[in-house]
Amino acid sequence: MVRVLKPTEEVLREAASLLRKGGLVAFPTETVYGLGGDALNPEAVAKIFEAKERPYFDPLIVHIAKFEDIERLCSRVDDRARLLMSRFWPGPLTLVLPKGDIVPDIVTAGLRTVAIRMPSHPVALALLREFGGPIAAPSANRFGFLSPTQAEHVKDQLGDRIDLIIDGGPCPIGVESTILDLSEEPTLLRPGGLPLEEIERVIGKVKILTLSDRPRSPGQLKRHYSPRTPLRIIRGESFVIPIGVKAGLLAFKGSPRREGFYVVEVLSPSGDLREAACNLFRSLHRLDSAGLDVIYAEAVPEVGLGRAIMDRLRKAEGLE
Ligand code: AMP
Ligand code: MG
Repeated sequence: MVRVLKPTEEVLREAASLLRKGGLVAFPTETVYGLGGDALNPEAVAKIFEAKERPYFDPLIVHIAKFEDIERLCSRVDDRARLLMSRFWPGPLTLVLPKGDIVPDIVTAGLRTVAIRMPSHPVALALLREFGGPIAAPSANRFGFLSPTQAEHVKDQLGDRIDLIIDGGPCPIGVESTILDLSEEPTLLRPGGLPLEEIERVIGKVKILTLSDRPRSPGQLKRHYSPRTPLRIIRGESFVIPIGVKAGLLAFKGSPRREGFYVVEVLSPSGDLREAACNLFRSLHRLDSAGLDVIYAEAVPEVGLGRAIMDRLRKAEGLE
């Protein structure tokens, strides 16, 4: 079984050395745990796909710690991109930009664009600096399943397949980054940890890609980010648990009705969407391991981080 170690200087040195040898290291970011490999080493990147059982058509996000790195990873960086980078990096915003030649095709699944992000988590930044180059890192879970927001989630899903897990505690944001495509008209590919409203305040109206549009990002697969237990979103007030069904409730706020539910998780007692997003995957992991027949999830308002929450719940439901 893989070692799970706290991020001491010695551990970070060892992690960087594993990455240099083409190994895989899971590490915390402010969004979720990432499964990192040397972004410029195609064999290391291939191992990421194998460990996650991720299809090769699903491109990876490249993580950097230095603004200069963007120049060699991308062939064109326009003013909008620079503005967003200066405003929101380091942080939970991934930018999709025209790819530079040094980025291996396996990283971008053959696309002519590359997704790049500078994380703000001190452990992620320390690892990137110690390694000294870009790290390709998708979320450290098996493909299609719940994203990990704690080291033990990574261990449960990938513990027998990777070289090291750096345990930096729970992820402070808890949902994946917001992905914005700037290779054409600014387009939101995935709502995430940075609210759309904040981006629009800086660059104006952003197009929102919906499921009926041509999929540009496999994060838009209908079923994704899923627990093993079936999940249903509760949309109306008049809702009845079917007889004989062992049901769990993912409640948004306050004191939800508990009768009839085998287990209840409350995302945010005060109804704060940031807190709710932060607790989303941890609560789903808990409900998923409670031996339930079904998880019912309350809908949340679709503003700010509520957009990311509803996106993940819809994909967990897999109906649309
Ligand atoms: P993950 O790191 O597991 O959250 O997944 C990364 C997400 O970024 C996936 O949904 C990818 O589809 C998306 N992504 C990565 N590179 C690109 C790209 N070049 N164009 C569009 N989406 C991308
Ligand atoms: Mg993922």
